[in-house]
Amino acid sequence: MPVEFVRCPVCKQKLGLQSYVAPGALLVCANITCGADLRVVSRNPARVDLVPQSETYSAEYRPESYG
Ligand SMILES: [Zn+2]
Repeated sequence: MPVEFVRCPVCKQKLGLQSYVAPGALLVCANITCGADLRVVSRNPARVDLVPQSETYSAEYRPESYG
């Protein structure tokens, strides 16, 4: 399976990106001391950007979901 390599914008950790990972997908840096939330912004060449902490919060934290 082809894997493309990108570097974490925070810690420069080399990250393998499987070919099926589409732009817009979220991933977490493999460096356990970094753990940055990253988003795939493009393929060919692969590029990732740091996801702001506030954005990751709004995706996971939904106080109104109790109904
Ligand atoms: Zn990192």
